[in-house]
Amino acid sequence: MSSTFSLHRVSASAAVAGATGYLAIDLAALGRNYQKLAAMLAPGRAAAVVKADAYGLGAERVAKTLSERGCRHFFVAQFVEAQKLRPTLRSDAQVFVLNGLQPGTEIECAEAGIIPILNSLEQYQRWSEAAGELRRTLPAVLQFDTGMSRLGFPPQERAELAQALGENSNVEVLFIMSHLASADEVDDVQNAEQLAEMRRIADEFTGFDISFANSGGVFLGDAYHGVLARPGIALYGGAPTSGVPNPMEPVVSLDVAVVQTRTVPAGAKVGYGAAHVTTGETRLATIAAGYADGLPRVLSGRGAVYYKGTRLPIVGRVSMDSITVDASALPDGTLTLGSLVEVIGPHQTLEDIARDAGTISYEILTSLGHRYVRQYR
Ligand SMILES: *Cc1c(COP(=O)(O)O)cnc(C)c1O
Repeated sequence: MSSTFSLHRVSASAAVAGATGYLAIDLAALGRNYQKLAAMLAPGRAAAVVKADAYGLGAERVAKTLSERGCRHFFVAQFVEAQKLRPTLRSDAQVFVLNGLQPGTEIECAEAGIIPILNSLEQYQRWSEAAGELRRTLPAVLQFDTGMSRLGFPPQERAELAQALGENSNVEVLFIMSHLASADEVDDVQNAEQLAEMRRIADEFTGFDISFANSGGVFLGDAYHGVLARPGIALYGGAPTSGVPNPMEPVVSLDVAVVQTRTVPAGAKVGYGAAHVTTGETRLATIAAGYADGLPRVLSGRGAVYYKGTRLPIVGRVSMDSITVDASALPDGTLTLGSLVEVIGPHQTLEDIARDAGTISYEILTSLGHRYVRQYR
């Protein structure tokens, strides 16, 4: 057997390791992104939004890394996420549930030391009742709707809330918050409108700290910062602001293994539905990731992967488990079984692939499947 096919070489390949590819997560870059945001926010602080398993990157690893950089406030969307994360964190860290609680989970939440965001009078009353039952004061955060109509106390509930706050001293409000709907668009008038509404709320509910900015909000300027900002995507290397160069460091790279190569003549049909027909002799490579691995089917015939800087266009439809690319730009034999091609990396950013797929970096990140080997660096 020639050395090219030695066992050693084969066992080092992705296919033998059982991986469809390698999702590398640069924890040092994550830490630097956090520090950059924290520096912009000082004397206010930067929390970390680690919902949806830290946008797919692993909430526990991400939270641990950011904890080492001084982060003490972690936001998830759901109570179950908080239940998983809470025991992995330092005791002086706080975990907040953005969506608030479903009825009946209040006592469990209180006993786990998890802090709900209260979004409505009903959630407020249930939390206050739980405090009464436990005969102690329970911490909470109040979220107000400043114009997104998604979560938080609507304007018409504010008077009744103010009254309830006066009566029930068993809910300790840690801070008040709201969420920006268009923070990635610097010139959008909605930003200033929401800020003005947040200021009206701060006048009605005096004495509370304010949490307002997401990633985009951090870059809208000091007026938006409040005492505690809640960045998510910027930590993970996504662009906080559209239309300008991304100031954040990339955190994620994705390399996928070649599972087969072939050279076909002109007129060859490629993939499901023969959506692509070759116009000349073509070198094809099939790579081991598809829409089940978070590479959207809309990339069919649109996106590309890279090999050492050479663009290899996706041809035909994206399958569930594979994608076929045109590797004709590479010398014959360059790609072989187990070669790794770049899907996200130095030549194709997360934002690039999101744009090709007609979506946002958030959706690409949170969709990246579970068949990749996740490598933390
Ligand atoms: C998801 C979320 C964030 C983080 O938003 P990014 O745009 O990822 O920074 C902050 N606050 C709330 C309420 C959220 O739902």
